[in-house]
Amino acid sequence: MIYAAGLIASGALVSASGAQPHRLLVTPERPEPGSVVRLSLQPPVAGADAPVSVEGRLAGEPLHFIAAGAGIWRAIGGVPVDAVDSLAARVLVRLASGRTDTVRATLRLPPPPPRRAAGTPRLSVDDRFTRPLDAATTARIEREGNLARQIGRRAHDSPPLWRVAFLKPRTSRVTSRFGTGRVFNGTVTSRHLGVDFRGAVGSRILAANRGVVALVDDFFLAGNVVYIDHGAGIVTGYFHMSKTLVATGDTVARGDVIGLVGATGRTTGPHLHWTARYGELTVNPLDLVARAGAWYTGSGAAGSRGKANGN
Ligand SMILES: [Zn+2]
Repeated sequence: MIYAAGLIASGALVSASGAQPHRLLVTPERPEPGSVVRLSLQPPVAGADAPVSVEGRLAGEPLHFIAAGAGIWRAIGGVPVDAVDSLAARVLVRLASGRTDTVRATLRLPPPPPRRAAGTPRLSVDDRFTRPLDAATTARIEREGNLARQIGRRAHDSPPLWRVAFLKPRTSRVTSRFGTGRVFNGTVTSRHLGVDFRGAVGSRILAANRGVVALVDDFFLAGNVVYIDHGAGIVTGYFHMSKTLVATGDTVARGDVIGLVGATGRTTGPHLHWTARYGELTVNPLDLVARAGAWYTGSGAAGSRGKANGN
């Protein structure tokens, strides 16, 4: 199901040349912060002046549009975890006739949840997790955070490296969902910006999709980490591993075993913490499974690929 998202088109519904403008549809209609959204650029009528390139931005990140056939172009985008109220997507369409269209869509976010939602986990943990960190450790965490953001930014430099849907890196139970508020010793300290999967030390972790290993490292918070650059702005990260089985620069296939579950870094026990980024934005990795896969790469569609980014 695709919903129109508060559509505004280049200041007028009929452009200067008299042609109808394209429409930009966004789904879901009211995305949660941290969501991956689908964007679909639709021609006004079949056989209309066809786009030769489509470029755009959402929440400060470039969008990578791909021709999906029948004059439709598709992209995915990310909603910042701290977004409130609304976000604007802006797309520039260059048409075969030489004309250009600027198309905008407004994404309206749901109202923020109450400060203390029912069911917020209350964790009572070892005070090594609540004790203030020394300056060197704080600097290390900041450095490692910057490195992860840089990997996200670089993922915009490659075309999508996957062809089929993302899979979950483990089939085990999810023990903590994305975005859940965390209460450490009675205080809300942070939101959970990943998805936790149950696993014993040594259980296998799979690459969620095809990509290039952007980093294998040992981070203070995340422990042994692997980041995979899937192209088109998408990165997935796998934390707390007991053992990593890939090296930076390796190309991995969807479902390859990339490491083993562990409890390295700042964690209370063995599990896989799975994260995803769209550029610099942290997004819900399960949205990649649900929304990004075949829909985005347009498998089965007749459209051309490769010149979609307009760069
Ligand atoms: Zn986690």
